[in-house]
Amino acid sequence: MRTQGKYFLVNFGCQMNVLDAERMEGILIGKGFTAAEKLEDADIVLINSCSVREKPERKALSLLGRLCKQKIERPALILGFCGCVAEQYGGKLLERFPGLNFVLGTNRVAHLGEVLEQAEQGPKVVKTGWAGETELDCLFAVSRDRPVRKVSAFVTIMEGCDNFCAYCVVPYVRGPERSRKPSEVVAEIRALASRGVKEVVLLGQNVNSYGIKRGLGVEFADLLGMAAKVKGIERIRFTTSHPKDLSDKLISVMADQEKICEQIHLPLQAGSDRVLKLMGRGYTAKQYLGLVHKLRAAMPEIGISTDLIAGFPGETDEDFQRTLDMVQEIQFDEAFTFRYSARPQTRAGQYPEQVPEEVRLERLWRLEKLVADITEKKNQAQVGKVEEILLEEVSKTDPEKLTGRSREGRLVHIARKGAEGCLGELVLVRIERGLKHSLLGELLERVDNIGWQREEQCLSR
Ligand code: SAH
Ligand code: SF4
Repeated sequence: MRTQGKYFLVNFGCQMNVLDAERMEGILIGKGFTAAEKLEDADIVLINSCSVREKPERKALSLLGRLCKQKIERPALILGFCGCVAEQYGGKLLERFPGLNFVLGTNRVAHLGEVLEQAEQGPKVVKTGWAGETELDCLFAVSRDRPVRKVSAFVTIMEGCDNFCAYCVVPYVRGPERSRKPSEVVAEIRALASRGVKEVVLLGQNVNSYGIKRGLGVEFADLLGMAAKVKGIERIRFTTSHPKDLSDKLISVMADQEKICEQIHLPLQAGSDRVLKLMGRGYTAKQYLGLVHKLRAAMPEIGISTDLIAGFPGETDEDFQRTLDMVQEIQFDEAFTFRYSARPQTRAGQYPEQVPEEVRLERLWRLEKLVADITEKKNQAQVGKVEEILLEEVSKTDPEKLTGRSREGRLVHIARKGAEGCLGELVLVRIERGLKHSLLGELLERVDNIGWQREEQCLSR
């Protein structure tokens, strides 16, 4: 196998894909490859696709089509197609895209090295599927080395999903719900902490059901407590919480444990009980509101974000109005809004009452506007507050600024000048301005002792 050369990785989709992409990079770097600055300079191009919605799927496939055409001039280029769309179509992709060298499914990231080796010898390779129905081990025995090290890292605690919401392709492309052993999760967090990581974000499609199916005897709230004991980790976040499985125990652990940030992503999807039922979500609007009240009673400053779908099959104007009403009532800190798109294999794709495209778009537009107004208003209400920020990186849009997040998950920028040596640190910042998607703040002080105080708090329990 070639051990020198350049790779370029194009990633689509969610945090799970971001983490899978990091693992792929870890494998490539471990084999001696380096990252190419441009697609044109690469010897190997990997596309990590997402099939949750139609648009990112289309984008990934059209990029693949363009690259396959380029292979006429660049015959030595190795093309790999990975992720959920790869899992879904498997070998059929090789028929449709003759320039493609290999297909690597979502659950086969750890096999990238051997698949690449085979593909470089000439034959086309397809590696999809998953091993086991409840367990998720060994898959993670891959390096996390990346060109840029971060102070905040994702950690998978489970894969797949058993919920089969009517619109969702995830259970088909990521497989059944499988949990990792707590000891493995904690070992990974320890390893990250020893490399300077201060914040971990625990990932799963529904973290609230962690461990139950595997009979681990450790539920998610317990796992959070174990993660909080890891020395050097100063902040813990997690995503995604399914409302139907959000327990009182989790809320009290969140409120009690200082290392756990006051932030939750709690996808509502729709405000009408009729639509929620058609979606198979397992809760009513009233139950969802009850959870919001509990969370805010336990943590008054908690940041609550959500996902919303506009134009689910059968959704009437009145149903959609319920979604707008819920958004207005709850005043989410952030909401990700999606126009419904039919996905292969899903029940909703077969529902007869598909909402016309122009209606879906018009509803999405109204929802986006409402959400944007609320987010901006809530951001403006932060002005004057003093927030604890973990400065994660130099701003992507302005090299003169450093960017981080508040405990509630708000994106905050501060001037780089005067904050020398603060990158990767917890700092106190006074919020000066609230913008549409972020906040501008002024550095007050570096808080070296915050981490130690938290260590002492959780070790004394
Ligand atoms: N496991 C998470 C999220 C999975 S997918 C959860 O349970 O919430 C991320 C988001 O994509 C979903 O919350 C949903 O809002 C959106 N989504 C999923 N399938 C979709 C579809 N077919 N059309 C539009 N949006 C969709
Ligand atoms: Fe999809 Fe529902 Fe599972 Fe989330 S809980 S991944 S929306 S099936």
